[in-house]
Amino acid sequence: MRYLSTRGHPDRRRFCEILLEGLAPDGGLYLPERYPQLDGKALQRLRDTYGNGRAGGYAALAFEVLSLYIDDIPADDLRSLCERTYTEAVFGTAPIVPLKPLGEGLFLEALSNGPTLAFKDMAMQLLGNLFEYELARRGEELNILGATSGDTGSAAEHAMKGKRGVRVFMLSPYGRMSPFQQAQMFSLQDPNIHNIAIEGVFDDCQDIVKAVSNDLDFKRRWRIGTVNSINWARLLAQVVYYFAGYFQATASNAERVSFTVPSGNFGNVCAGHVARMMGLPIAHLVVATNENDVLDEFFRTGVYRVRSSADTHETSSPSMDISKASNFERFVFDLVGRDGARCKSLFADELGRQGRFDLGQDPAFADAATRYGFVSGKSTHADRLATIREVFDRHGVMIDTHTADGVKVAWAHRDPTVPMVVLETALPIKFAETIVEALGREPSRPAAYEGIESLPKRVTVMAADAERVKAFIAGHCA
Ligand SMILES: *Cc1c(COP(=O)(O)O)cnc(C)c1O
Repeated sequence: MRYLSTRGHPDRRRFCEILLEGLAPDGGLYLPERYPQLDGKALQRLRDTYGNGRAGGYAALAFEVLSLYIDDIPADDLRSLCERTYTEAVFGTAPIVPLKPLGEGLFLEALSNGPTLAFKDMAMQLLGNLFEYELARRGEELNILGATSGDTGSAAEHAMKGKRGVRVFMLSPYGRMSPFQQAQMFSLQDPNIHNIAIEGVFDDCQDIVKAVSNDLDFKRRWRIGTVNSINWARLLAQVVYYFAGYFQATASNAERVSFTVPSGNFGNVCAGHVARMMGLPIAHLVVATNENDVLDEFFRTGVYRVRSSADTHETSSPSMDISKASNFERFVFDLVGRDGARCKSLFADELGRQGRFDLGQDPAFADAATRYGFVSGKSTHADRLATIREVFDRHGVMIDTHTADGVKVAWAHRDPTVPMVVLETALPIKFAETIVEALGREPSRPAAYEGIESLPKRVTVMAADAERVKAFIAGHCA
């Protein structure tokens, strides 16, 4: 399998070459040259491999799916990386991603029982092991520079802490994460973990990461890598749980399932798109946004319009507070028939010049719904509160604010003939303030997380300035 750039660069790379990288050399995102196709027999084999959540089934399924995209790690090594990553000890249950029924054909897929209680652990835990493996194989070191609005950062730090050959420099928007999220990151005392709180919003952090990554001399000199959601390996790891969710929701591969995905940077739902392109029988991919409705606007109108920092709302589902969706280019590349020049003109030229592009009149736009199965909806703070209450009252299940955005939008897209799986992207304890507002009670807290807010914090506050961040990195790499 070779990987190409969404902006038409002629190079083709192998998995381990792009594993430690972010953007392609032309500023595009990496995608596989083609999506491996699963026929009925292959899909049945994957269903049997998962074995309805038997112990070790998820790791075996992950190995099978990853093998279709990774041909430069020996099979035994890849299998053992998967087996070490997806354990009941780390993720809490044998099925790893169990489904919880919410009535009327709706299910929650639990993706948030890893170390930082959000779905990002699903990919990041694998990435930590892949990075350590590949760096050891090369005899190299890597300095990971990332941007987070909360969940990515803690997932990355908890996956990389203590890993050999890796340092983490994690930018987060100062004061915008919940106290629990801040504690999860800033309480880490591991010497290879560096927290930098930027005076700005998440997108300022992301812009700094891009600016530093675009300085190729600096990037090479300090061996800068990334783990934010544009990393292909992360996206690939997420493809696996669409299969596991599908197998649990159905008795046979003749049935179809829809997924609703609380979305921000479009990484999670893009993995669903990849699974669907491989032939997993997914009816619809429902993109749920909060008040930051860049994606909902696109799927309704064909207009993709990035928002300014001032126009980016701070909401009670903060991990979806984005002004542009950094993975979205991957889907648009497929939508425009994998035309790299067209994709480049949309994302580099039009977006750079006027902050928007409009595919509304393009015949390809209709394909987003008809051919690729995408629909969308949005949710507000009031919707979140009402949904958290309703799910708790009717089913005794406490859901977090992001998952609530998903459930709200899923209800609006319900089709009685097709099971709907909503991805549970975090546990309520991470966003306790809104849970208290909705339910008048604190969410329960796993014992391991008692009192973490009062632990000593290790963090540096900094202006939104790429040069200052570079200086900090250079000063901490000796
Ligand atoms: C990251 C995150 C999202 C958004 O996922 P994307 O891949 O950026 O679309 C949604 N919910 C939670 C809890 C998250 O941490």
